[in-house]
Amino acid sequence: MLGAALLSAMTLIGCASGSASGSTSDSAADDAQSVEHAAFSGDSAYAYVARQVEFGPRVPNTAAHRAAGDWLIGELRRHGAEVVEQPLRLRAFDGTMLDARNIMGQYNPDASERLLLLAHWDCRPWADEDDDESRHKQPVDGANDGASGVGVLLEIARQLGRQAPSKGVDILFVDAEDWGSSGDEDSWALGAQAFVENPPVAGYLPKEGILLDMVGGKDACFYREYFSDRSAGALNSRLWQIAGQLGYSSRFPNASGFAVTDDHVRFIEAGIPTVDIIEYNREAGGFNPRWHTSSDTMEGISAETLQAVGSVVAEYIRKYY
Ligand SMILES: [Zn+2]
Repeated sequence: MLGAALLSAMTLIGCASGSASGSTSDSAADDAQSVEHAAFSGDSAYAYVARQVEFGPRVPNTAAHRAAGDWLIGELRRHGAEVVEQPLRLRAFDGTMLDARNIMGQYNPDASERLLLLAHWDCRPWADEDDDESRHKQPVDGANDGASGVGVLLEIARQLGRQAPSKGVDILFVDAEDWGSSGDEDSWALGAQAFVENPPVAGYLPKEGILLDMVGGKDACFYREYFSDRSAGALNSRLWQIAGQLGYSSRFPNASGFAVTDDHVRFIEAGIPTVDIIEYNREAGGFNPRWHTSSDTMEGISAETLQAVGSVVAEYIRKYY
């Protein structure tokens, strides 16, 4: 994950810690128990995050990266998706040639109306935000930054394997998001860039997209992101409305105020309205403190957070796809 900026000093809305459903004053939480909604297991998503971390840092050009990629393909197939692989050779900002691949699992590949769900699956090769400078050259585990979004989407794949959507749904794992340089916006999201420039499916044009990035942090809070609202405000509104209906309104404050240059911007530029669900601490003005540090490990991951994000996306699919 790359740059973010607080756009304006708006009225601060506190993000309550812990599970939103524990709030007695939130009538939506009570209602949610009596209303049917989409199946999603935060514990299963958590196991999918842990499994990725077990491979070791999924940094391009490493054995862990290759093995994890093969495993992702196997999981998508096991859950009934038709898999499209896009092998890539990408030049990073530092001249390194990256052996990368985008991996997409399609449900109802012939349906014309499609929803694209995506997350990056690679890890940053450098923990350069760590307080300990001696760790700046070490790769990160990427439990939150990478594996969390992929874990949620693998659990969604498992659910779609049980109950197929009536329209098209694609789960895309983009590579080489995080081998970037802080001063150079174009150096990030190389896999997403390659995908939109040369889609592996001819004429590929989903109706809309949802990016998940850093969606597993303990007590994480999700505000509406600026580029998301600008390109797909109605989609963002629906997602935040669903979050409220499911009892997660304190985790998903219906408020905006920050901008992030992430994989979704590549898709927006290619004409696909796309939103980014990403943790951002508006009060502290930054990402999760474990971001790009040696502490981005399973200790920072919460099944409750994965449950909240996954439930919202799964419910969106149930309602509209
Ligand atoms: Zn990152």
